Amino acid sequence: MAEASSLTLTELLPSLINSAQSLARPPISNFRVAAVGTSQSGRIYIGVNVEFPGLPLHHSIHAEQFLLTNLSLNNEPNLQSFAVSAAPCGHCRQFLQELRGAPDIQIIVTSEPDPKPTPLSRFLPYRFGPHDLLSQQTPLFLEPRNNGLTLLPLPTQKLPNGVCNGDTIDMKLKIAALEAANKSHAPYSNSPSGVAIVDCNGKIYKGSYVESAAFNPSLGPLQAAVVAFIAGGGGEYDEIVGAVLVEKNGAVVKQEGTVRLLMEAISPKCELQTFLCYVDHQSSI
Ligand SMILES: [Zn+2]
Repeated sequence: MAEASSLTLTELLPSLINSAQSLARPPISNFRVAAVGTSQSGRIYIGVNVEFPGLPLHHSIHAEQFLLTNLSLNNEPNLQSFAVSAAPCGHCRQFLQELRGAPDIQIIVTSEPDPKPTPLSRFLPYRFGPHDLLSQQTPLFLEPRNNGLTLLPLPTQKLPNGVCNGDTIDMKLKIAALEAANKSHAPYSNSPSGVAIVDCNGKIYKGSYVESAAFNPSLGPLQAAVVAFIAGGGGEYDEIVGAVLVEKNGAVVKQEGTVRLLMEAISPKCELQTFLCYVDHQSSI
């Protein structure tokens, strides 16, 4: 499309905003936000805002958070530029700081009278970011990492039962949640976690917890799995019939209570199982 219109990929992005907005799920604000971005690979990804009635507003997913989670789900190493339908809020300007080279990400705000690529450093000039708290060598969000988590072999840890098609799905769900936890970007609390959900057709969606250096913009593991569900073509939330949360034994940040709250709000009949794990230092990077 870019070649046919003699545009660069970044210049093409604004033309995709309108169709992406139709995928937003904002039943509280009815304000549809879409972000469409591209990475080094040249592939294009979308993000939309998602709101959950019945819960405090901080459970919401912003379009830029959706976009970054979508990149992570597809193992993209970075975000080069994105177009967005409204100026990024302060929360998202901060969340974007988790990427290496964040100040150079080009942003096009399509609601502006003369939309043109503008670096993130112009939106947030005095940044507080990962390197105020971490060493330069620590992997940032979207960079490869393995938290080295292994499930605890406790006798109380039984496989979930009654989920869709029985034990095969149960085991796949547990493994998917462990994989998501091993990919989780949680360098500030050292409390990685992951969620896997399964729909009534047996399709599994994974979500990894993502922390922000400023803590509050962090994105929970079930929110990340909901991003995978929507991006993967999922329909109504009550199609989600099973969920597994994997988190670290003794972690300072625990997800179970919040994940249960959100799951009960979106799919009350879904069974949620939690499994604890420990760090195998030989396999963590
Ligand atoms: Zn935002």
